[in-house]
Amino acid sequence: MNETNNATNATTRAKGRLAWMVTAGLMLGIASTSQAAADEPCAPEAYAMALRYQQQSAEIDALQRQSYALATARLQQKIAAHPDADDLAIMTDLDETVIDNSALLVRDMQACHDFTGWDTWKDWEREGHPRLIPGARKFLNYADSRGVTIFYVSDRYEENKASTLATLRSLHLPQVNDAQVRLLGPSKGERRAAIERDHELVLQLGDSLADFSSDFHHASLKDQHRLVAEDDAHFGDDWIMFPNASYGSWSDADLEAWAAPLKSR
Ligand SMILES: [Mg+2]
Repeated sequence: MNETNNATNATTRAKGRLAWMVTAGLMLGIASTSQAAADEPCAPEAYAMALRYQQQSAEIDALQRQSYALATARLQQKIAAHPDADDLAIMTDLDETVIDNSALLVRDMQACHDFTGWDTWKDWEREGHPRLIPGARKFLNYADSRGVTIFYVSDRYEENKASTLATLRSLHLPQVNDAQVRLLGPSKGERRAAIERDHELVLQLGDSLADFSSDFHHASLKDQHRLVAEDDAHFGDDWIMFPNASYGSWSDADLEAWAAPLKSR
């Protein structure tokens, strides 16, 4: 029994050594391959943390639902404040407000392609399948049920309008038609002014400050912060902001660091 056990143990040890050698050899091979890959610079990998947060975190899911809950509460108040109005309207951005395009951004990043050049965007408009942002359809259906006119105002390409209309229809959103989906051509400010000519615009939704006011368009980051402070009363009232960590006019901003020397324990 002991002899058998010893023989078995010896065989097991030999197999273990062999397995270790094979594993180590494989690991060395993988390590050298990985090292070669790691030596290739891939700047877009810097987007991974932000994309993971935007696409996968339950916190973004909750923030988006929170924004739509606030939008619904405010719209209820606006409707109550205009009991006799039949011209109430809301204006909503599309990308990263109503629909989630993160799959395109992740595809590009994983191919080491910088999506902020936006040279893959037109294909996505034509062939992509964005997801609905949580809470969007429920809120828009509420607006629709109360007779509020919805304008989808987006800087998506006019040349792909049929595709964008098809995308929005496939997501079963209300009031999706040629007149109420207004894409890039006139500036957002001009499109907002056109809506305000014959509607009482009571609420705007967006993930970029430029969705709310032309003042933010091309403003420096410092000026954007000043304008946000000046416009404080709008946020959470008639301007509903959505979180977007994946792209924006802030993306090249310098970071501030604690000046103290790093001490690791
Ligand atoms: Mg947007």
